[in-house]
Amino acid sequence: MKKRVAILGSTGSVGSQVLSVIDVQHELFSVEVLSAYNNADLLISQAIKYLPNVVVIGNADHYSKVRDALNSYDIKVYAGLDAISQITEMGTIDIVLIGIVGIEALNPLLSAIRNKKKIALANKESLVVAGELISKIAIENNVQIIPVDSEHSAIFQCLMGEFDNPVDKIVLTASGGPFLGKDNNYLKNATPEEALKHPNWKMGKKVSIDSATLMNKGLEAIEARWLFNIQHSQIEVIIHPQSIVHSLVYFADGSVKTLLSFPDMRIPIQFALTFPHRLKSTFPTLDLLSANTLNFERPDVKKFRNLALAFKALEIGGNMPCILNAANDIAVQAFLNKKIGFQQIPDIIEKCMDLIPLTGNPVLTDIFETDKLTRHKASELIK
Ligand code: MG
Repeated sequence: MKKRVAILGSTGSVGSQVLSVIDVQHELFSVEVLSAYNNADLLISQAIKYLPNVVVIGNADHYSKVRDALNSYDIKVYAGLDAISQITEMGTIDIVLIGIVGIEALNPLLSAIRNKKKIALANKESLVVAGELISKIAIENNVQIIPVDSEHSAIFQCLMGEFDNPVDKIVLTASGGPFLGKDNNYLKNATPEEALKHPNWKMGKKVSIDSATLMNKGLEAIEARWLFNIQHSQIEVIIHPQSIVHSLVYFADGSVKTLLSFPDMRIPIQFALTFPHRLKSTFPTLDLLSANTLNFERPDVKKFRNLALAFKALEIGGNMPCILNAANDIAVQAFLNKKIGFQQIPDIIEKCMDLIPLTGNPVLTDIFETDKLTRHKASELIK
């Protein structure tokens, strides 16, 4: 029987690539649910192609448009953010793939865990803001979260079969983004168009900017802390421009494991869907001879201050990663809208980290409150 997949955030970069994986593996997977927030047109065309049982449009303003367009198909249409969470209750879903960007993924993720679904997680922000809470609820419900992000997928695969073997440290690799090696003067005047040109990965706008500022790697470090139950002092970041080595695990005996592949998100996406099995794919395979040289260097946290701020937030803990994430969201949007420069992004984040009150063991309401407060403060600082 085919595995029935709910794709939350199907119109985003990851969501679209999940569908292209399902195109290849259509004999094994079927699409049960598609959801998107705003992109009604793409959601409608995806629904007509994949014929899911249910479609959810997060922004209720688009409800009638989606309903009318799918009127002649046997597809139920729901609207609203709550509907995206509630849909994970469906008994006909085998796997929930969460490709939603931002903190909006938190409630659907918690709901999918409580409904004991197999979860493939591509969202970063939920684990960044509420990692401790999510880990606790996942353990209580005996739910395993399979990471989709290439670095975490690599670490997850390196740890397969290692059980309780002691890990010394985890090293996350970062491509360095489009501004690797640029000087401060260049960075000050960098434009959104330049920042969006990622050398190796095909990604959405928010992740592309985060990759240019190295915040993406900072968020990934916080995610790793919770996904792999490892201390902040055991996580390091190294720049590797070719994006072929996808992170490393250092074991206590001196052995180091890593995972190599051609940089194509469809590879970790397929693995998350098929775990613990590996299926034949048609994706590009790695040719080390044509890759020729693999380089590694230390990240420059004086130039890319977001990375240092993320590690500081990780070390402080509590609601600090939530403050970091919310301030970064607002600052990245302001940069994309040309209201602030590239090097002002860390200024805004640092100020918010100083100004918003710290909460030691935040519960869900504290997290949403911190998020709101920080967004407000960051917007004020930008005006
Ligand atoms: Mg990544």
